[in-house]
Amino acid sequence: MTEDQKKYMRAAIELAKDGMLAGNGGPFGCVIVKDGEIVGRGSNSVLITKDPTAHAEVVAIRDACKNLNHFQLEGCEVYTSCEPCPMCLGAIFWARPAKVYYACTKEDAAAAGFDDDFIYQEIEVQPELRKIPMLSILREESMKAFELWKEKGDKTLY
Ligand SMILES: [Zn+2]
Repeated sequence: MTEDQKKYMRAAIELAKDGMLAGNGGPFGCVIVKDGEIVGRGSNSVLITKDPTAHAEVVAIRDACKNLNHFQLEGCEVYTSCEPCPMCLGAIFWARPAKVYYACTKEDAAAAGFDDDFIYQEIEVQPELRKIPMLSILREESMKAFELWKEKGDKTLY
């Protein structure tokens, strides 16, 4: 662990505390670093924005992508005050940073009342049997969008 890594993680932890004390959301913060510079910041903003997806990592990814004017975080490092939940884990894989550093573990989060283990369990359950049932309808009609995508000549791959 380098002094710079400590500095970036402390910035994420400060965002966690400040955002929570301001009433914005839970005690989670995140910064995204590229070439030694913080390019994105976020704290959990679920309460203030009335957005259940406004987790620190998602807020920071959106901020970094806006600042970098790109839909991927190539060569970036994510510093998050807590191990990402399944939603943020997915968002991180879609954003494709180079590395993620986290401070607290998901067990620490669960002990503080933020338990995301049920989501990992739900992934294993058949969609229609999940606690929130997920049912496939109009599949054939929807396949047409994929066919159009496959035929689209000028598409941006991501
Ligand atoms: Zn999350």
